[in-house]
Amino acid sequence: MPNFLSAPSTLPMAWMRPHKMPTILITGANRGLGFEFTQQYLRDGWHVIATCRVPTKATALQQLAAQNKNLQIETLEASDQNSIATLASKLENVALDILLNNAGIYSGVGKTRSDQENDSSQNFGTLDAVAWAKVLQTNTVAPLMVTQAFLPNIKRGQQNKIVFISSRMGSIERTNAPDAIAYRSSKAALNAAMRNISLSLQPEKITVVSFHPGWVQTDMGGAGADLTPEASITHIRQVIANLTMKQTGQFLNYDGGTIPW
Ligand code: NAP
Repeated sequence: MPNFLSAPSTLPMAWMRPHKMPTILITGANRGLGFEFTQQYLRDGWHVIATCRVPTKATALQQLAAQNKNLQIETLEASDQNSIATLASKLENVALDILLNNAGIYSGVGKTRSDQENDSSQNFGTLDAVAWAKVLQTNTVAPLMVTQAFLPNIKRGQQNKIVFISSRMGSIERTNAPDAIAYRSSKAALNAAMRNISLSLQPEKITVVSFHPGWVQTDMGGAGADLTPEASITHIRQVIANLTMKQTGQFLNYDGGTIPW
């Protein structure tokens, strides 16, 4: 058996340095899919910058941080330009391997799931301009503003990947029900913007994709959804790990297949 302890001192220093762990920044990491991503990347030895609106209320994240020094919790209200600027300046010199834009809302009205299920503000005839604007701001504008702010960090990283969590409900071709106009249009617009920036960032070899995570058991998806967060995120992480520039600009299903626009 080789004796590594007595390895000759002439070996290059790099041999002795621990491999630098990759870093991911996740939005909306305090619950649902964002929390599952956080847990899984931590288990794989990543440094996770888990952002949420109110860290003091993010009990599950705090508990995880108490056991794991690779978890860094930061404040980010993704719809607030000052909040984005504050975090971007705090993390100015940090290299990010992946930027994961996960935060999103289904509805611009109400707080509970049943408020949202009965949300008539998204139906033609009773559309509500303020509620629709809130969904567009959160699901479309915010992730693009976050991406613009953290682009320098992505350029400093090794893996150079930007991921948006979209939804199959944003597929215009797959739209088969008249409901959820705000949510569907916000994710369709997110996909369009994703495609645009994938072209802007192609010369710099930054891979940009959006994902449909499946219908998943979270507050948003509800208990009756098809997939557990663990199953959905296990698949998505595998696809992210194998992404190449050939896939940049694509709208991907959680299992790696493509979804029509
Ligand atoms: P969720 O359980 O409702 O969690 C949403 C997360 O987004 C929460 O952490 C929430 O923070 C955060 N968030 C919302 N608005 C924010 C803002 N302005 N700034 C910062 N954080 C904000 O939903 P989920 O199921 O995990 O959804 C995650 C993503 O997957 C969303 O983009 C959603 O559209 C997409 N998606 C989900 C499903 C599904 O079946 N679950 C299907 C398709 C797509 P707070 O705790 O502070 O509210």
